[in-house]
Amino acid sequence: FLSGKRALVTGSTSGIGLAVARALAAEGADMVLNGFGEEADIARLCDELRAQHVAADLTTREGCDALMDAAGPIDILVNNAGMQHVAPVESFPVEKWDAIVALNLTAAFHTVRRSVPHMNAQRWGRIVNVASAHSKTASPFKSAYVAAKHGLDGFTKTIALELARSGVTANCVSPGYAWTPLVENQIPDTMKARGLSREDVINDVLLAKQPTKKFVQPVEIGALAVFLCREEAGNVTGANWSIDGGWTAE
Ligand code: NAD
Repeated sequence: FLSGKRALVTGSTSGIGLAVARALAAEGADMVLNGFGEEADIARLCDELRAQHVAADLTTREGCDALMDAAGPIDILVNNAGMQHVAPVESFPVEKWDAIVALNLTAAFHTVRRSVPHMNAQRWGRIVNVASAHSKTASPFKSAYVAAKHGLDGFTKTIALELARSGVTANCVSPGYAWTPLVENQIPDTMKARGLSREDVINDVLLAKQPTKKFVQPVEIGALAVFLCREEAGNVTGANWSIDGGWTAE
């Protein structure tokens, strides 16, 4: 049902973004991929999804503009690129704070700013921002990430109101822990920050948050994003959809 629609998923060479891109492509969308990785892997993905790839660094305004220049008019925008760093606030590396806020929050402002004129003109558009359970609740040692994701939730609500009469919806999807490189990579720092073993971090920190005791599957997040792109979701806007095994219900 998405044939003829052009969809951009930022950070779609890995993890959740890749699963969302696959789900949209399966519905017939023309895909623009973004993110880093091995050239050969990316070429294979472009073949698989009949997609264009733009390797822009979205921590900078120039990178965001380069992506949007290369992508052309976009009907479905999924802001997914994100990064995490785990450290106590007093020793949180300042450059990590800047990069996390730039990628997880400010990049979405730039891609939205550049996508909205086309969406408004055709009176149809879908904006899906991949936030996090950490857009609704906090955990220690993740100050930059929690601040950026709460900011993304507020930004999404604001644009939903601005676009409410234009046929353009804007929503967040907020996963709990999904097993991707982003989660894998924070295990060593969490072991250090909390003085725990790897097993303890997985069971007592990550899965402790999720009453289902299961990691969220990226493919489940893809299915939710697809739903938000349907015509039947035209009145779903300004919402922040949890997909977190019950984490934020507690
Ligand atoms: P991931 O590390 O597997 O993938 C991140 C993607 O972003 C990759 O394609 C990477 O190349 C790209 N990327 C990284 N830095 C970039 C930059 N500067 N410019 C452009 N692209 C860049 O991560 P993931 O777990 O799939 O996370 C995707 C999104 O989901 C993030 O916004 C993350 O905060 C959010 N999220 C993840 C989880 C989880 O448990 N994995 C939970 C909640 C929210």
